[in-house]
Amino acid sequence: MRRPRKGISERREFRQGSTGCEVPGGRNSGCEAAGGEHLCREFCGLTAENGGDCMEKTEIKSLYFEELAEMVAAAGEKPFRAKQLYQWMHQKLADDFDEMTNLPASLRAELSAACEYVCLDLADRRISAADGTEKYLFRLPDGNVIESVLMRYHHGNSVCISSQAGCRMGCRFCASTIGGLTRNLLPSEMLDQVYRIQKITGERVSNVVVMGTGEPLDNYENLLRFLRLLTDERGLHISQRNVTVSTCGLVEKIRALADEKLQITLALSLHASS
Ligand code: SF4
Repeated sequence: MRRPRKGISERREFRQGSTGCEVPGGRNSGCEAAGGEHLCREFCGLTAENGGDCMEKTEIKSLYFEELAEMVAAAGEKPFRAKQLYQWMHQKLADDFDEMTNLPASLRAELSAACEYVCLDLADRRISAADGTEKYLFRLPDGNVIESVLMRYHHGNSVCISSQAGCRMGCRFCASTIGGLTRNLLPSEMLDQVYRIQKITGERVSNVVVMGTGEPLDNYENLLRFLRLLTDERGLHISQRNVTVSTCGLVEKIRALADEKLQITLALSLHASS
């Protein structure tokens, strides 16, 4: 029997006066949601201290399929709607909810009201005359700009993505660290660098390297979520073996990543003889 329809915006649960919201993808201070812990103070007026009403939207593109299915079910929608929605976001690489034409207009309107849909703006694209390498500048919703690179090899197209806006690691040779860390990227902001490039070029991306601006292991939880979404067979389904994460050497995080038993490659960037 169909469950009573609650509406997606009504299902968000808040713990007023406590440590913040529990919305998946929410970004409040104290938020236990994935993708939330690094960005709260930059984005959200509600902090653990004030505990007031949360106006934060659910950041939908960073949700695992199971979380999305739970949200859709709680809204009284049929389970196949979660599959359609996930497919539009992670396979068809839709620019917005309006593009999801097999969803009812009422559901699309409700999603627009309740959810933030991350889709990066292309600010610039430069193509090297020498080797065809393409550099992309993407503008994030808060105005920060990040860089990604597409390289074409005989074994397939490879995209190098950024994991942070700026970096606090201070490697001497690196210009990305001069202004320090601005903020961590959300899982969706990492994913969408790959999605936009595949959509703009119309060519399949088969390899991903997390080697652009930022130290990926300094944004660990968001990185893990990004890796799982990127390699999910219900999404773009890039093979884990075709993913490389580069680190300047955060030992504890390297150990934690090893415990995840992912089949990715870890590249260690040597930046000193010591
Ligand atoms: S970790 Fe990477 S981005 Fe950060 S300073 Fe070192 S080389 Fe630059």
